[in-house]
Amino acid sequence: MKVLVTGGAGFIGSHLTEALIKKEHRVEILDNLSTGRYENVADLEGNPNFQLIVGNILNETLVDKLVERTDIVFHLAAAVGVELIIKKPFESLTTNIRGSEIVLEMAHRYRKKVIITSTSEIYGKNTNVPLKEDEDRILGSPLKSRWSYSTSKAVDEILAYVYCKEKGVPTVIARLFNTVGPRQTGAYGMVMPRFVSQALKNEPITVYGSGKQSRCFLYVNDAVNALMGLSEHKNAIGEAFNIGSQEEITIESLAKKVIELTGSESKIEYIPYDKAYEQGFEDMERRVPDITKINTLIGFKPQINLEGIIKSVINYCKDKK
Ligand code: UDP
Repeated sequence: MKVLVTGGAGFIGSHLTEALIKKEHRVEILDNLSTGRYENVADLEGNPNFQLIVGNILNETLVDKLVERTDIVFHLAAAVGVELIIKKPFESLTTNIRGSEIVLEMAHRYRKKVIITSTSEIYGKNTNVPLKEDEDRILGSPLKSRWSYSTSKAVDEILAYVYCKEKGVPTVIARLFNTVGPRQTGAYGMVMPRFVSQALKNEPITVYGSGKQSRCFLYVNDAVNALMGLSEHKNAIGEAFNIGSQEEITIESLAKKVIELTGSESKIEYIPYDKAYEQGFEDMERRVPDITKINTLIGFKPQINLEGIIKSVINYCKDKK
């Protein structure tokens, strides 16, 4: 098949692109190399089944052309990372909402299937455990960047859903919970690459808030398999699926685990949220996905546990040095 991956030079996009090429698909990626990096896909250059198009998701003429000549779109191009979103809220909103709208408009024009990637951020402050797909969204003020980001991704989901229900575009919504692994950068706030690189340099590990907040981390290859599995199953169309791990850890324990596995001399430094992000910043206390739905449909189950994930990130960071 011919596949278009928007955001294909990003962290998840580049792993997805590799996996698709391994399955003999022909992949074009559209990426503006803003948070994505050329080096993530440099190894694929020269492969006849790979083509990188450097361009913006907001360029309608370009997206029109690319969607017309593909069979399916994986839409991953988005502004991600809590820090980036707080620093550049306007750009983040436009990229996420208008970008998805353009992709869906073109998919409608040419009758193509779209896998839209969303985020666990849409659940907001809902701390129910585990979070099912039809759970309530509990949000703070739309004037706080984090909640406007959450809303922007929810708008993407609504667009994908109504394009499917009303206009017959085959869309699938994939809600990614914290996903980590090689190639993820800490530059936009993500905790795992931050902690590992701090530990390797014996620098303080920056735990925000009390560190009692928890997350579940999924290995990127597991996320990629989930995305591909959903794209291949006809009963996924018109539905939303959680994709994530259920192995929960507090951020403070994560810091300790990273120190232990790197053999680092780093100490933990607790930084108040107001300093780490912005005045009045609100974090999510817990975020555990219910993955029954995707497990029932395609048999999804994470294959790599947290320790294996941390080790793989450590190896990646060491190799890069
Ligand atoms: N975090 C932290 N130190 C850092 C970066 C992040 O303690 O240097 C915390 C962050 O406040 C959050 C958790 O780690 O509670 C996960 O953050 P990330 O940005 O990776 O993902 P998300 O907030 O989207 O779950």
